[in-house]
Amino acid sequence: MTDASQDPETARWHYRPKGPVGLNPLFSWPPRPSAVLKWYSGAWLQITSLTLCMVLAVTAYIFFFPALETMQSFAPGWMFRIWLLNMVPQILIAGGLHWWLYMRKGQGMYKKFDRRDLTRNNGNFTFRNQVWDNIWWTLGSAMTVATVYQWIIYWAMANGYVPTMTWASAPVWCVVWMAFIPMWSGLHFYWVHRLAHHPKLYKHVHAVHHRNVNIGPWSGISNHWYENLLYFSGYFVHLIVPSHPLHVVFHTYFQQISPVLSHSGFEKLRAGNTDAARAGDFFHQLHHRYFECNYGTSEIPFDKWFGTYHDGTAEATTRTSAFKKQMYT
Ligand SMILES: [Zn+2]
Ligand SMILES: [Zn+2]
Repeated sequence: MTDASQDPETARWHYRPKGPVGLNPLFSWPPRPSAVLKWYSGAWLQITSLTLCMVLAVTAYIFFFPALETMQSFAPGWMFRIWLLNMVPQILIAGGLHWWLYMRKGQGMYKKFDRRDLTRNNGNFTFRNQVWDNIWWTLGSAMTVATVYQWIIYWAMANGYVPTMTWASAPVWCVVWMAFIPMWSGLHFYWVHRLAHHPKLYKHVHAVHHRNVNIGPWSGISNHWYENLLYFSGYFVHLIVPSHPLHVVFHTYFQQISPVLSHSGFEKLRAGNTDAARAGDFFHQLHHRYFECNYGTSEIPFDKWFGTYHDGTAEATTRTSAFKKQMYT
């Protein structure tokens, strides 16, 4: 491993986690059971995007979710409510984090990866402003596509056109499928994201997301319309795999809200003198800086298997630039 003090990569960041970027040890060989236990307890037993999305999903489902019977035909009442169930948490969490981290500067530069502030007065962005650009592509494009997909799924569930389940009929499957959803999301994301990096698709579509080299909470799902059609298509797994509506609600929050945290630009959120919650994801932050690496998530190590893993070292940056050159020549 390269000595951090001599690693030119160190100078490129304001803060970066020590050591190589972690990958889920579930896939390591020989098996590392204690590391696996630590990985999953780290994800499920503290404030992370997973636990936040689970709390949000349960709250939304119990208090605000329309009764399934009302969704048998397309009617404005429940459809509007589903749209609100997408919009309100997105605005509160992305808006809240943006306000705290970038306007109020509540934790200063503490564990902020990039030195720079978000971009203003730059013609690369819609409205010449990174934040307004990101808000438009999130609330306009992403929320619309995500909502329409959900309307179709709930309508199909309500009419019994697709297999559904209840907690009483299959409690074990309910829990297993819930735990597997983040992995499905990671698997689906890797492949659609790789497709989005095809030079032609990249230029016309995915470049909208990659305007954000330095990222903030609103960058998470700031995507072109066509990209959103692909990115949210993973929801249609619920037309095949028997699901409860709560699985869909959790899945949608996981896919919509967790990128807000992972793109926040800060590794941890600080409350008082302690790191209260996990936020940014250096694995994906590297993708925004160097583009042709870390297409997936750290949950399933596709990038390691296919040779596009950037572990945060200068050697990986050199390898990534060579790969990028080869892609575009
Ligand atoms: Zn990308
Ligand atoms: Zn991104």
